[in-house]
Amino acid sequence: YADHDGKIWMDGKLVDWRGANVHVLTHALHYASSVFEGERCYNGKIFLDREHAERLHFSANCLDFQIPYTVEELMAAKAEVLAANNLTDAYVRAFAWRGAGPDMGVASARNPVQVAIAAWHWGNYYGDAKTKGAKLDIAKWKRPSPETIPHQAKAAGLYMICTMSKHAAEAKGCSDALMFDYRGYVAECTGANLFFVKDGEVHTPLADCFLNGLTRQTVIKTLRAKGVTVHERHIMPEELESFQQCWLTGTAAEVTPVGQIGDYNFEVGALTLDIASDYEKLVRA
Ligand code: PMP
Repeated sequence: YADHDGKIWMDGKLVDWRGANVHVLTHALHYASSVFEGERCYNGKIFLDREHAERLHFSANCLDFQIPYTVEELMAAKAEVLAANNLTDAYVRAFAWRGAGPDMGVASARNPVQVAIAAWHWGNYYGDAKTKGAKLDIAKWKRPSPETIPHQAKAAGLYMICTMSKHAAEAKGCSDALMFDYRGYVAECTGANLFFVKDGEVHTPLADCFLNGLTRQTVIKTLRAKGVTVHERHIMPEELESFQQCWLTGTAAEVTPVGQIGDYNFEVGALTLDIASDYEKLVRA
């Protein structure tokens, strides 16, 4: 991704893609003092543009730092990046971190906060699983308790166990890994939330120790508006057997059906296809 034509917005201005660099003594690189957003632009419009900019601010505040640009300035910068790269349908990555400065220990209050925004084409996050249904491994790592991490922040540090779980899953030929939480409940995947269908009703894990994704919130609202009952609740692994359908939600993943989790199989059923199509219409509306 580093060797690419185009422009990246960095600390207030557009710079050449290949020149968008940081120093090796960047605080974030050593202590994960970094937050980010994943967004998608459809037909020239970023879906939930403002909500993503607000979440970036929220995540930074959770990590005890402030983004030196307002939500409006971030939205304008995102538009600038898309225009500079001639993109109307793209993935947008906005991120902020504690940079290099006078502090090199754990504390870094005196180091500058840096912000960058990049955008590029990103097709189906799960490739052909988008139509066939993804195969999920079960991760050995658990989502930690809310007393361990600021779980509603989209922060780099929370992804260490996600990367390890996803590597293990891919080594077994799976698209992703289902993670349980610290209590043993079904939680989410490494970069997407999870939904199940049982007898026409939808069940989704309560987002009390993992990211309550914007796509998850959108899909719940859409389902309820259609008259579908949605239960947000704790789900035990033993229940996986009783569900008929399953799908993943996320900005990158959109709505991706799941065909298999470990030994359990799910059909790519009518409600899954229905909500995938509703979401597709909504983001392009
Ligand atoms: N969980 C994790 C761990 C994620 O990385 C993502 C992607 N941001 C999600 C859930 C889904 O969040 P959203 O729908 O806001 O993209």
